[in-house]
Parts: sequence; structure tokens; C-alpha cells
Amino acid sequence: MLKFRPMKLASPPRLSWTRALANAITDPQELIALLRLDPHIAAETQQALKLFPLKVTRSFVARMEPGDPTDPLLRQVLPINAELESHSDFQTDPLNEKHANKLPGLLHKYHGRVLLLVTGACGINCRFCFRRNFAYSENNPGQIGWEEVFAYLAADPTIEEVIFSGGDPLLAPDNHLQFLHDHISQIKHIRRLRIHSRMPIVLPERIDQNLLKWLASSRLDVILVTHCNHANEIDQHVAHAMHALKAINVTLLNQTVLLHGVNDTATDLINLSKALFKIGILPYYLHMLDKVAGCAHFAVNEADAKQLACQLAKRLPGYLVPKLVKEVAGYPAKVPIVIEPI
Ligand code: SF4
Repeated sequence: MLKFRPMKLASPPRLSWTRALANAITDPQELIALLRLDPHIAAETQQALKLFPLKVTRSFVARMEPGDPTDPLLRQVLPINAELESHSDFQTDPLNEKHANKLPGLLHKYHGRVLLLVTGACGINCRFCFRRNFAYSENNPGQIGWEEVFAYLAADPTIEEVIFSGGDPLLAPDNHLQFLHDHISQIKHIRRLRIHSRMPIVLPERIDQNLLKWLASSRLDVILVTHCNHANEIDQHVAHAMHALKAINVTLLNQTVLLHGVNDTATDLINLSKALFKIGILPYYLHMLDKVAGCAHFAVNEADAKQLACQLAKRLPGYLVPKLVKEVAGYPAKVPIVIEPI
């Protein structure tokens, strides 16, 4: 039987996902008051807020610990002054994605796979986001632009997999997702649709009947890669959403970003792997932070990351150990970080 950490704040009423999204918190003062934190913290958010706005769903806030300014979920969303510090190796486009941006809305950086930038918006603004400075305004193809994207896919028989990315692709309405899906699935050499999304975690209401219906009808193999960084992000609503996806044969994987002060202990990562497995998700990647400007305070160095990976390997069955990887600009795949026995 699944057991989840009891919610500390009253759980917000269940709304449709669009209403719950419209009801997200964007004002640090409101967030701080809700969590019963020192009101002075709000003043320290103001400068970083200008760089990247605050956005967090109420159901995600309900999973935070009131009164704890170091809560691992809060740290992922609260703007702080450390974001203003500049570090020479942390840049606005650390992955040089401009180079892979072959057409508006399309990134082709991996062999056999392309990413479609379905939307620039997200259900939550993660302070460590590697695309927080991305030129989304230049990546809104419109109807004609999407036709060019479909032609690009059709012309390259090596492309077997299309990845819905963003922003968060599940922020897009179902009719837009279905429009993209229907065109893609007419291209014979495309076999798989992968969706990378944090929405099933931060707003599990998004996994509604409409979405399930069109996913279930797809001829493509569908893979959902959730982005979950801490076991406390998982509650009974997330479990319910995963159960519904599993019931229509969606393959469920998870990607975690290794973040200082959020999940950089073996206990945190082990608890996360076990909690994911309980709800039907296999840990897939433990990703080194991409070196994006404003995020240096979240970085864990590679030697420490290797030590953590070793501890996971020693204490978990192999299928619960995520691959430690990093992304290297211009390289056509994630780069595994090899660990040595210690
Ligand atoms: S959900 Fe993903 S794309 Fe959106 S802000 Fe968070 S890390 Fe960035």
C-alpha cells in the first residue's frame, strides 16, 4: 500500500488544470505568508524576480514544510540574491542550443531524435532552469512554421523519435498537442513520441481524460519523462496521474537534476528513487546542472556527484539507480559520467 508524507498545508481544492494553473502563486509575499516564513525574506526576492518571475502551483506549495526556509521544494522556486552573482563559466546559453535550432520550434541536436519546442511556458518556474534565458519569442512557428517542421521531419528518415519539449509541453492545450501529434504520426519512420514534462508532478490535474484519450489512441510508442527532484514532490495526486498513464501503456521515466541544497545527499536520492518506483516510474537520468547564468549556487561538483552515484549503486538495486550524465554543448547525446568503485 502506498504511503505518502502528510500534507502540511491544507490541500487546495481540486480544479481543472487550466483553472489551477491560473491560480498559481506569482507573488513572493503571498508564498512567504502561506508558508509562515519571516516576511523579510520577501525583500530578498525582488532583484532576482526581475531576472525570472516566480511561478508555483498551489498544490506544489502544499507539499512544502511551513516555517522551513530551507525546504527542498521551496528552494527550487524562491528567487534569491545569489542568482545575481556572475560566474565566468555560467552563461546564458551554456548548451549552445542556438546552433541546433534548425527551424523555429525545432532543435536537432541528438542523433535520431528531434525536440519540438511546443511552448515557452511552464507550470512552475524552476530557478535552475537551463532554458531560463532561451529565445522563446523566436521559436513560435505558427501554422506555416509547423508545416516546415513536419516537412523537415519527413525528409530525414533517421529521425525515429520526436520529443515534445519546451518550456513544458503539457502547458499547451490538447488540441495543439493533438495537431502536432497527428501530423507527426503520419510520418512512417517516426516510431516514438517522448514528452518531457514537470506538469504531472507540479500539476497532476493535467493528466485528465482528454489527454489520456488522445495518448491512448496514438500509433506511436509514448514515453513520458517526468522531472521530479525530491521525494517530497510525490503525493497521492501524482500517484493517481501515473497510474492512469500506466493503464494506457505509457512508459514512465524520470529525470532529476542534481541540485545543491535540494537533493545532494545519498538519502535524498535513494528516497527519491524508491518513491518514484512506488508510483510506477523508473529513475532514468541524474543530470548534472547545466551551467546557466544565475544558477551557480545550485551546482554540485563532479567529484561529489560521482561519490553520490557510487553510494546509490551500492545501496539500490540496479534498476533504481539513475544514470549520472551531463550535457556537453555540440555533443549528439548525453555524456555518461563514469564512476570508479570507492
Ligand atoms: S519545468 Fe523545466 S523548462 Fe520549465 S522552468 Fe522548470 S526546468 Fe525549466
